[in-house]
Amino acid sequence: MAELPDMLFKKEAIAPYAYTQVGGPADYLAKPETVTALMDLLAFAREQGWPTFVLGRLSNLVVRSGGLRGLVILTTALKSIRQEGQQLIAEAGCDFIWLAAVAQRKGLTGLEWAAGIPGTVGGAVFMNAGAYGGQTDQVVTAVKAVLANGQVRTFSGEALAFGYRHSVFQENGATIIEATFSLQKGDPKAIQALMDQHNYARASKQPLNLPSNGSVFKRPEGYFAGKLIMDTGLQGTKVGGAMVSTKHAGFMVNVGQAEGNDYEDLIHLVQGAVHDRYGVDLETEVRILGER
Ligand SMILES: Cc1cc2nc3c(=O)[nH]c(=O)nc-3n(C[C@H](O)[C@H](O)[C@H](O)COP(=O)(O)OP(=O)(O)OC[C@H]3O[C@@H](n4cnc5c(N)ncnc54)[C@H](O)[C@@H]3O)c2cc1C
Repeated sequence: MAELPDMLFKKEAIAPYAYTQVGGPADYLAKPETVTALMDLLAFAREQGWPTFVLGRLSNLVVRSGGLRGLVILTTALKSIRQEGQQLIAEAGCDFIWLAAVAQRKGLTGLEWAAGIPGTVGGAVFMNAGAYGGQTDQVVTAVKAVLANGQVRTFSGEALAFGYRHSVFQENGATIIEATFSLQKGDPKAIQALMDQHNYARASKQPLNLPSNGSVFKRPEGYFAGKLIMDTGLQGTKVGGAMVSTKHAGFMVNVGQAEGNDYEDLIHLVQGAVHDRYGVDLETEVRILGER
């Protein structure tokens, strides 16, 4: 085997890097500090034939207790932002909440809804994250990514295939390097007021004091996942250390020492109970990866 790149950790537990604080070990884990280092790692993994998982803040992800075989690349050190007129161009690992704060300081409106979403730019693009009537696809006009064959390509318009919690990156296996956010001029005070309003609403409804993945399920047509779960009487139900939140039934919180498998088992329990009661199939928004 070619020499291992520098700063590649072996058998590294994923839980400390995950917003939920769960997840078994990665065979190899790296946190590149430049896009060049990221591309070198991708090329190395391709040469070795290793499966590769590019992850951000793991705020929408459950890694099962057995962990991930292959290479995990965390993007969180790639966080620069540059401004070109009314556009902010952010690297994939840039904190989404920070990006919204930067837009506010610069008097750019369009990202107020993002102020409380605790992931990265890459995760937001991949998931087409959204809240309070705003969504990533309303402001992202171009995304630079490395394709599975190593080529760099810029995606825009229909090629991004944005939909409800969907983007082309869920199918094409490309690694997002940076995204362009096209914003409008606005009043910093009005922007801040709207951000505060959203964050107040969030804090009053969501269990932000405990590790979670946000809303576990997508919104089923004609229903609200949280209401179905609440009406099925599942709040407070636990598997191991994972529990259906008593504050917001759509969230599952880590109430201590949860494992990735606990989350998956609790998800299946909730899906089964809601199906039995209402005949509705809840589809996960959260992504589940790895071995049991
Ligand atoms: C308290 C809380 C509140 C939340 N509120 C919201 C909300 O209001 N709206 C909402 O939409 N979501 C919300 N979420 C979910 C989550 O924060 C978002 O989905 C976020 O965009 C995920 O970003 P991440 O960096 O954590 O992605 P991760 O969880 O690390 O990864 C998610 C997926 O994206 C892929 N990915 C990440 N980076 C890249 C990259 N650079 N290239 C290719 N693929 C990549 C990963 O492979 C994975 O499949 C919430 C979560 C929490 C914990």
